[in-house]
Parts: sequence; C-alpha cells; structure tokens
Amino acid sequence: MKKIFVLSIFTFQLSLVIFAQPDRWQQRVKYTMNVDMNVQTNQFTGKQKLEYTNNSPDTLTKVFYHLYFNAFQPGSMMDTRSRRQGAVNGGGGRPDWDSRVKDRIVNLKPDEIGYQKIISLKMNGRPQVYTVLETILEVKLDKPIPPRSKVTFDMEFEAQVPLQIRRSGRDNPSSKVRYSMSQWYPKLCEYDYEGWHPTPYVGREFYGVWGDFDVSISIDKKYMLGGTGYLQNPNQIGFGYEEKGTKVKKPAGEKLTWRFIAPNVHDFMWAADPEFIHVSRKLRDSLTIHVLYKPTNSSAKSWEDLLDMAEKALPFIEKTFGVYPYKQFSFIHGGDGGMEYPMATLCIGPGAALHEWMHSWYYGLLGTNESLYPWMDEGFTQYAEERIAAFLSSSTGFAQIDNYNSYYSLVKSGKEEPLTTHADHYNLNAAYGPAVYSKGAVFVEQLGYIVGAPVRDKILLEYYKQWRFKHPNAADFMRIAEKVSDMKLDWYKEYWINSTKTIDYNIDSLWEEGGKTKVRMSRIGLMPMPIDLQITFKDGTKELHYVPMNLMYGIKPDEDPAIPRIVYEPWKWTHSTYIIETTRKLAEFAVVEIDPSLRLADVERKNNKLDLKW
Ligand SMILES: [Zn+2]
Repeated sequence: MKKIFVLSIFTFQLSLVIFAQPDRWQQRVKYTMNVDMNVQTNQFTGKQKLEYTNNSPDTLTKVFYHLYFNAFQPGSMMDTRSRRQGAVNGGGGRPDWDSRVKDRIVNLKPDEIGYQKIISLKMNGRPQVYTVLETILEVKLDKPIPPRSKVTFDMEFEAQVPLQIRRSGRDNPSSKVRYSMSQWYPKLCEYDYEGWHPTPYVGREFYGVWGDFDVSISIDKKYMLGGTGYLQNPNQIGFGYEEKGTKVKKPAGEKLTWRFIAPNVHDFMWAADPEFIHVSRKLRDSLTIHVLYKPTNSSAKSWEDLLDMAEKALPFIEKTFGVYPYKQFSFIHGGDGGMEYPMATLCIGPGAALHEWMHSWYYGLLGTNESLYPWMDEGFTQYAEERIAAFLSSSTGFAQIDNYNSYYSLVKSGKEEPLTTHADHYNLNAAYGPAVYSKGAVFVEQLGYIVGAPVRDKILLEYYKQWRFKHPNAADFMRIAEKVSDMKLDWYKEYWINSTKTIDYNIDSLWEEGGKTKVRMSRIGLMPMPIDLQITFKDGTKELHYVPMNLMYGIKPDEDPAIPRIVYEPWKWTHSTYIIETTRKLAEFAVVEIDPSLRLADVERKNNKLDLKW
C-alpha cells in the first residue's frame, strides 16, 4: 500500500508543469516560554521570550499582540456580541446566538473569568509602553524595527484560565476535562502584505505568524498533558510517552515540567487532566498518533478507534491533499465541539476528530487568514472531511450532498451573505456556518464540475505544494487553479465568492427539425456556468452534450469515456438560451438532464430533468 502510494505521488509530480514558486515575504517568530501553573487557583505565570524577524520591506513603529483570555469577562466584545445575537432571529424564531456562549460570560464570577495581564514588556532589553485594548495589546515601540532585522521581546505575564465557554478554558461542562489551553498566551499578531491584523476576539477564527515554539510547562505531577509539539523529556514524564522499556525517573517535588518544541507552526495548544487515558500508535518512523481522552461523554472504544481510522485514512489523505510533515498528531478530549490546532485537536467527542484532523492541511499547513477567508479553511476542510469519510466507509454515493443541501437551505432562507465577509462580521451566526463550511465545500466540488475532477485534484495538490507555510489568499488559489487547468477561472471566484448570485438552468423545450432533435436550455439564475446535459435513450444508451461557458477559454477534459461526448461552441454569458441537437429521434428519448452528477449547485434542480418515458 505504502509503496504504491509513493510511486503514484512521484509520477504525478513529474507530469506537472513546473511553475515559478510564489514570492511572498513572511514574518517569523521564535517563542521560548516558561509557564508555572497552579491547579488550585487556575492561575499561571509566564515568561515569554519572543525573537521576531521583520522580513517585510516596511519599518515597524508598533506591534500588536492577542490577549484572547480577556474576552471571557462580562461586557467584553464577545459577551456583548453573543447577547446581541441572542436577541436576533436566527431562523424559525430561534435566537441566533452560539449555544455554547449564550449569555454565560456575563454571569462569570471573578474566579471564573479569564485574563492575561502583562507584568513587563521589553524590546532588546528596553521597557516598552503598551496599551491593553481588551483582547489586543498595542505596543508603541521606542525604536522602530527596520526591514529585514530581528528584535527580541521579553514579557512577563499572569493569567487566569476562564471557566470553559468557547474553545479554551477549564472544566468544560460535558467532557469534564480540566484544562483546554488554546489561545492561552500573549500571541503576536500577524503582519503581512496587507499590514497588521489586530483582530479583536469575538469567538471566531485565527491567524498567526509562522515560527518555532519551545514551551516548558510546570504543573501538578498528577496531570497528563498533550498538545502541539514534541515532548523533549518523555523519560522524566512517563504517562505512556516514555521510550519503550525505559524506567521513568520523575524528578522530586510536587510539579513536573513538560518541555515541548514545535517547529514551523503558527500556534501552540496544550491540554491537561489528571484522568486522561493515553493511547498511541506509530504510523511510520516519523509519525505517531496520540489519543488522550476521558470516558465521560463518549466511550473509550470510540476514542481508541481513532487510531485505526488514522492508520487507514492517512495514505489516502496524503495522496489527495499532500504529505503531513510533522512527527506527531494528537486527538485530545476537551474544548467544545471540535477545534483545530497545529499537530493537535481539541474535540468534545471522537465524531469531530476527522474534520479537525483535516484542518492540519488547510488551517495548519496552508494557514490562510481565517478571518478574511474562513471558507478557504472551513470549506476546504469540510470538503476533505466528506471525501475521506466516503473513502473510509467505501461509500459510492455523492459525498458532498450534505454540503449542497445546506447551501440550498441557506439560499432559500434569504439570509445569505457573501463569502468575502470577514468572519467576525457576518450579521448572523446562522448565515456564517452554511456559507463558510457548506458553500465553501461546494466551491471545491463544483470546481471539479468546471475543470474536471482529476484536474481539480491536481489543483489541490499543487496548491498545497506551492503555498504551504505561506498564507495563501483566494486569488493565489485561483491562479494555481488557472495554471493547472489552463482555463480562466476568475469569473468563478467573482460570482461564487464575491456575490450571492445563484445558478439555475432549465430545459425549456424539445422539438424535431431537419431530421434532428433539438433541446433548448435557458439560464434563469444570474451566475453563468458550463453545462453538461445528458440524454438517456430508451435503449439505455447515453449522450453527453457539453457546452463550455465563454469566460473559461477552455474545455473540460472528458470525464467518462464510456459515454460519447459532443462538445459545443461556448455559451456566451450574456445569452440566456442555448440549443443543442442530436440525430436521435425524440421518440427515442427517455431522460434529458442537466448535470446528472449533481455537482452543479443549481438552486432549482426540479427543472433540470425531463422524464420522457411515456
Ligand atoms: Zn473546522
């Protein structure tokens, strides 16, 4: 299995046209952090050394950090936004709020809130002046950071872990995991070709600077940890991390210090609980899968089955979406729902694990700015999840059907907002999910309808190859798609992502004329698309009539040689009707259907098909 896989990747790469590597500068961070956790007060102190390399052509006069825990205080932006959504109709008279957040923040007591307090901050040894703006720290530097230079920030901070409300926190209500430690340290905001991204935290989506982490966490000896990175002292730690056959030698004292390093990631998460159960499996020399769970709200078996799932899925995942480059991945019980982090996930149950794992490719390795392009993370991940799930269950049905149906419901609701909306600024939570997850996944599947599924797959791999570790944006993806397919596809992004215009085609008439049968199609929706129209005859034979759309400047390769395909002149996007023809008699027709593959997201499918078996 493994050998065949390596060979196919190799031949695939040889067959690709070689493109110039994209040229984009990246800032770089190196964090060294020492954390001392008190499991009685749920407070910790931290020392953070941050080496920051300004690879930009710009002189930086200030820097920004995220202070995410400050969101978990009454009256915060997250609290206020959530309660506002609670008073708005999210559909069917239901409040639009996130059922995990609701009005829980406003009710937090002083020992339940979260905070991150800066005790001191120096740049190259000199104290700096800073302002705390709730979840953002603004630092006006005493000396600017010139282009292509490096500085060191030293910070001391204190924090209190909030009662778990959203993603991070302590003692989450269902799983009873003590610490879900995401968004837990003062984290430098990203500066890129669009400038700073100091996005106040209202509960949604992240963006970070690529770099290396060296994190030492001192905590009560009874607690087991998991998270991002590679444990450096497993033989002092034990808990199943020790090398086989080693006798664990724990140092004296009440606490253990866990040291992790994590190369080339843009965040660092950890979780801790005294009752975690830890199982692991080595999938290859350079990759171990860990599962840390408590048998509280899901069975031990369902958690441990994740090891089989990972082992079975990984070769297919890597062949389809690219190689997983890190040495470990950990499925960890905690948080709420499911949430992705580098090399790890926090899930409330094993059901969310596959989705969160697939984020390793889109959130973890490509790392788009999720605030600006949440659909490029969630949509692509959702697409990948459905595809892997179909592989695992050997299902032959249409794997993306749920995503299409969710998108159709969104359109019918009349509440759709364009995918260019910043993640935080969707008017309704009810509009965010179906847009970003489902319409985003449909984007990928429907791209296969336009360029052909095998070409779409080459696009996904080439996108991964060229843009991993580089924060691609939507235009970057489209350029890869255009180069690999040799088609113009800008129109697809402009309609599907930048607008809420919809697709609707119908078959409006059939007639015989001059010894031929003609079929006229109409474009009713505002978004133009290429058309696959299939005629099935009463004798069981089929014809595929393919009409490209003129903005594509290209033709989709034949996807199914078993069905004869007739290729037409392109349908001009300004024209509302198009006529195709066949030499077969109308009386021979059984079914005429626009897109029997169901990949065209036609919002009114009823008028796509005519059944003529009279
Ligand atoms: Zn997701």
